[in-house]
Amino acid sequence: MATLVKKFGGSSVATPEKMHGIVDRILRERQPDDRIVLVVSAMGDHTDDLLTLAAKVNPEMPKRELDMLLATGEQVSIALMASAFCAKGQPAVSFTGAQAGIKTNDKHSKASILDVQACQVKQALDEGKIVIVAGFQGITDLGQITTLGRGGSDTSAVALAAALHADRCQIFTDVEGVYTADPRKVRNTRKLEEITFDEMLELASLGAQVLNNRSVELAKKYNVELEVLSSLNPIPGTVVKEVTKMEGMLIKGVAKDTDVAVITILNVPDEPGTSFKIFGLLAQKNINVDIILQSTGRDGKKDISFTCSEGEADTALRVLKESGKFQDVTCDETCAKVSIVGAGMQSHSGVASKMFEALSNNNINIKMISTSEIKISCIIDRNDADKAVSAIHDMLFD
Ligand code: ADP
Ligand code: ASP
Ligand code: MG
Repeated sequence: MATLVKKFGGSSVATPEKMHGIVDRILRERQPDDRIVLVVSAMGDHTDDLLTLAAKVNPEMPKRELDMLLATGEQVSIALMASAFCAKGQPAVSFTGAQAGIKTNDKHSKASILDVQACQVKQALDEGKIVIVAGFQGITDLGQITTLGRGGSDTSAVALAAALHADRCQIFTDVEGVYTADPRKVRNTRKLEEITFDEMLELASLGAQVLNNRSVELAKKYNVELEVLSSLNPIPGTVVKEVTKMEGMLIKGVAKDTDVAVITILNVPDEPGTSFKIFGLLAQKNINVDIILQSTGRDGKKDISFTCSEGEADTALRVLKESGKFQDVTCDETCAKVSIVGAGMQSHSGVASKMFEALSNNNINIKMISTSEIKISCIIDRNDADKAVSAIHDMLFD
């Protein structure tokens, strides 16, 4: 007997035909005693459509109301999926995030899961039902509906898998696994048989949206074995786990993130406490700072640059200027970050130079560089991002 959590993304449940396809496959593949929980996203582009609608009514919609609206997308798909199972004679029941016991903090639109109290889910499984849970949503202690941020259904699935001590959490999507780069945008990509949690976490955080980064974080924390696989082709996908084969590939993937702004503060005092003042102001506004670069001091002054998401750049500029301490501040909102990820680069030299060579061959200027043990990221002009990913991928994988 196995407990399996299976998550189906928006494109996989986009039509009634696709829903019936999922039902047929699950009933065909299940072992008699399997306990199955499905986590589903809103159908197709439903979440985007709801966001467009919200913007027409009020471009500054209160986040609580936006969560109330967006959560309805998943509620549509759970009811339909449960009914599709019932139509085939298989008892099934749908639960919203709240009914499934997904408790979150109150950060509307990017809430974090604090706990999963899955008693209703367990009871329904005990009764032999297939359980369908709405991804992407939860509830606060005070009963407010929250959402987890775009792509959050992956996180709902992993959290449920951890709470139910599931044998595996399977993320079904519109590609056949995790590839060396986005297979829809880059040619000659390869599907990875397996990848470590750390590598996947970096890839997801650096822009590979095939898995939500928080889902990988949770899977690592609770040691949930994750598999990414196709919702259409019943073939093995990519397994994400703690340790992979000893002789794996040196580099696992190339990713890009186009939601990057670079803010530069010129001529700040070259003295103790300057960085603390700057980043303390940003922290107070919950601004997520990524890469930080500081120039060598000259004549008692230095320059500091940092990156953040485009959506947070205006607030960052405002708090810095309003502090009265930093006036010479500029913002470049036409940037992107391209990155390579692979645990193998810890023990091999020359990887960075190959990445830079690919960019140089294509006349792409590097504005900033950041490295960790298992990744190298370059900030470049956004218009060059697709060309850069393909060039780096060709250089490293051809
Ligand atoms: P879902 O709706 O199932 O959650 P997403 O659109 O969130 O699906 O994620 C799947 C998409 O991720 C794929 O269609 C693909 O274009 C994109 N993607 C980006 N990078 C990668 C990668 N390295 N491997 C696989 N898919 C990737
Ligand atoms: N429906 C939500 C979104 O489109 C959550 C998800 O698909 O994971 O982002
Ligand atoms: Mg997704």
